[in-house]
Amino acid sequence: MLEIKNLCVKYDAIRVVHQVCLNIQKGELIALIGANGAGKSTILKTISGLMRPESGSILFEGRDISKASSHSIVSQGIVQVPEGRQIFTKMTIRENLMLGAYLQKDKEKVQRNFDLALTLFPILKDRLRQLAGTMSGGEQQMLAIGRAMMGDPKLLLLDEPSMGLSPLMTQQVFSVLEQLKSEGITMLLVEQNAYDALEISDRAYILETGHNSMEGKSSSLIEDPQIKRAYLGGD
Ligand code: ATP
Repeated sequence: MLEIKNLCVKYDAIRVVHQVCLNIQKGELIALIGANGAGKSTILKTISGLMRPESGSILFEGRDISKASSHSIVSQGIVQVPEGRQIFTKMTIRENLMLGAYLQKDKEKVQRNFDLALTLFPILKDRLRQLAGTMSGGEQQMLAIGRAMMGDPKLLLLDEPSMGLSPLMTQQVFSVLEQLKSEGITMLLVEQNAYDALEISDRAYILETGHNSMEGKSSSLIEDPQIKRAYLGGD
């Protein structure tokens, strides 16, 4: 579904992503793991068209999207849940959700996705008229994912959904990702919380200072001594 080949990205003169390769098959949940500053968010921003690659290619369903606008990329079905959630705090939960469907012309599809978002997040259902800014961090994260679902994604990009959340809320967010997976949504999950990300994902890519370092089945990586030492707090 998504194939990234030899991707290089720079900020001004400084290259922060070096020849990165990554591929995602339909229905997979792929984790992208790495320390602070490894380049994970930069890769997501480049996939969603917010940054341009210096070189390399990004194919989505066989089409090169590396020069496409972010508007066109969303309309092709790649929807990002941004780091820090970026919900509209002065708008209601319903309004925030409906904003996620701004490109969707098919009203029936909008209603279907709205119903799905409320089924996945019952907490939003009783509070559609509440201002989003009055919700807790975990609830706002649910709203951010719900809003992305309104865009009818084929591929959902998630940038650190557990950031700033309590362990309990983090578990709730991860269990929602499992439900999305069972709905057939393909996902690329960027996480610093390596253990949870490896537990939930099918495969993972480890990024070190902008380079591919390891990749493989998450169930194998979680047992790998090098990964345990570097990312899982093991010895
Ligand atoms: P984190 O987990 O801390 O969010 P990350 O793996 O997502 O880290 P990026 O945010 O992609 O990493 O950053 C990769 C590198 O690019 C870092 O060295 C960072 O300092 C640098 N960088 C990020 N944004 C900019 C910017 N707007 N201008 C210049 N350099 C930047």
